Amino acid sequence: LNPETVTVLLGDRSYDIFFGREIYSLFQEWICRFYPGGTVHVVTDRNVASIYGGDIQRWLAGIPHDVLALPPGEEHKNFDTVREIYGFLARGDAGRDSLVVAFGGGVVGDLAGFAAATYLRGISCIQVPTTLLSQVDSSVGGKTGVDLPEGKNLLGAFHQPTAVWIDPQFVETLPPREFRQGMAEVIKMALLGDEDLWSHLQDHAREIKQAGSAALTHTIASCCRLKASVVAADEKEAGHRRVLNLGHTVGHALERLSDYQILHGDAVAIGLNSAARLAVRLGWFSRETLMRLEELCREWQLPTRLPPEFTPDAILSAIKSDKKCLDGKLHFILPLRIGAVIERSDLDMEELKRVLQEQQGS
Ligand code: ADP
Ligand code: ZN
Repeated sequence: LNPETVTVLLGDRSYDIFFGREIYSLFQEWICRFYPGGTVHVVTDRNVASIYGGDIQRWLAGIPHDVLALPPGEEHKNFDTVREIYGFLARGDAGRDSLVVAFGGGVVGDLAGFAAATYLRGISCIQVPTTLLSQVDSSVGGKTGVDLPEGKNLLGAFHQPTAVWIDPQFVETLPPREFRQGMAEVIKMALLGDEDLWSHLQDHAREIKQAGSAALTHTIASCCRLKASVVAADEKEAGHRRVLNLGHTVGHALERLSDYQILHGDAVAIGLNSAARLAVRLGWFSRETLMRLEELCREWQLPTRLPPEFTPDAILSAIKSDKKCLDGKLHFILPLRIGAVIERSDLDMEELKRVLQEQQGS
């Protein structure tokens, strides 16, 4: 039984992403081979533990391990929770050769990844993502992050995992609105770099909605393959990795303006439409493809319009005050066609404003 794999090529920090249903026996073999003898420290959250407690035991069967179940949700992605993980590791006698397994969504991945990056100046971490969003995006690439009261992800470290294990069956229990958040990143990936994935999304929507289907596995693997190649080319976001921010400039502004009441994927979907509309306006992207993007978003119940309570001016000033914009230049990623984007830092804010006005009207 050979699961599908994608390798993230980063020299001596290269690692594999394994995909497939019920891949836990391979996971066990892999752990026994690469981490013989040590205790494995599993970090999860209480929601995941209550649904998948049995699975966690099955994945870790025969391997000495302990489990920490954190309070779930982004509101706990803070330093108090990281402190809890440090205590758990210290009490479990974690040493330089110990392994942290992050078993859960993006919040667990960020927190456990950050703790692993900093405990004893860095110990190994494996990601077992259980939400679609974390399977297609956050579990790959080594970014970890923790929120401060002053802002999101103000603490963080690049710490590549030593492997990522993705079982698409886990998404079966996700509430539809969480599944949708992942689909926004999937659509982003297809638009920015994978024409075949775009066709797959258009032609196989019904199969993709089936957790554990080959169509869903293919979707996730395609996203990871693309992300792996972007990360391999630019691990620390010196340049090329910024293409992954397609849709995120307007998206982040909306999240912040709504005090995070608008969820990340929903905000990104709106932002993808803003970027595409701006590109149409500048004559770089076809109106017909913009319509296909809107259709795809509708298929997945993702918003495309700007909610009426956010004025274009408020969005523009939120964009300008973003810390990523501090060099005075706005790095905006725009689509050129399905599978190709361009980064521009010379865009006229007035053009963006007109696009936002248009996106708000009907
Ligand atoms: P992200 O969307 O970044 O992956 P979280 O880690 O906060 O964010 O996960 C979103 C929510 O879904 C959390 O409440 C988490 O406990 C829950 N969750 C994670 N995995 C699953 C799953 N497979 N089934 C149901 N709920 C899950
Ligand atoms: Zn994102």
